[in-house]
Amino acid sequence: MVPNPLALIVEVTHRCPLHCVYCSNPLELAGVQSELSTAEWTSVFQQSGKLGMLHAHFTGGEPLARTDLTELIAAARSAGSILQRTSDSGC
Ligand code: SF4
Repeated sequence: MVPNPLALIVEVTHRCPLHCVYCSNPLELAGVQSELSTAEWTSVFQQSGKLGMLHAHFTGGEPLARTDLTELIAAARSAGSILQRTSDSGC
């Protein structure tokens, strides 16, 4: 039996104001319109919480590009996750 996942990589956006030469982010492939909505991410957190997820790692792109980031964080916390965030310079 495969054990339940303990961590979730939450790539909330590919948008980023920086232009690092080493970036592997597919900026041209995933614009705002292709990102998961607040409701879709909330569903992901709820489902992951039921699977026993303990840790949500927010990354991107730059997560702060999402205007609903606080809602996403709250949804992850209410699903029981410990949070971690990677900023622009943390890629
Ligand atoms: S901060 Fe990260 S996502 Fe942004 S351009 Fe640099 S490597 Fe890419």
